Amino acid sequence: MFLKGTKLYAILFLKCPRCQEGAFLESSPYNLSQFNKVKERCPECDLKYSLEPSFYYGSMYVSYGVGIAVAVAVYVISLILGLTLTPIRIFIAIVTALIVSMPYIGAVSKSIWASMFFKYDKDIATKIKHHKND
Ligand SMILES: [Zn+2]
Repeated sequence: MFLKGTKLYAILFLKCPRCQEGAFLESSPYNLSQFNKVKERCPECDLKYSLEPSFYYGSMYVSYGVGIAVAVAVYVISLILGLTLTPIRIFIAIVTALIVSMPYIGAVSKSIWASMFFKYDKDIATKIKHHKND
């Protein structure tokens, strides 16, 4: 996987920001009963995901930005596809896209937030990979 080792990999695939092996969330973002619950620690490298209580509140600001990015992307895609949508149809398309992607936006925002505080550690990642292959 070419993205491995970049922040983008951990963010998009919801992996531990340090080792990129362990899961970041308790379950899939679309398992709504868990609503993007972040695990206490990385199951692979034991990184504690929260530096302090309510650490992930700040990710709400991130999700606002990600939401705008999704809205812009929907508009740009409609232009690329040559769709000449009326403003109301563009609005409906954007709202639909936001509703469908909301759980994932929330999860990715927490992942982005975490990646601002934790760095990828190649040594730890390599150690875990070797351990897995044994
Ligand atoms: Zn980890």
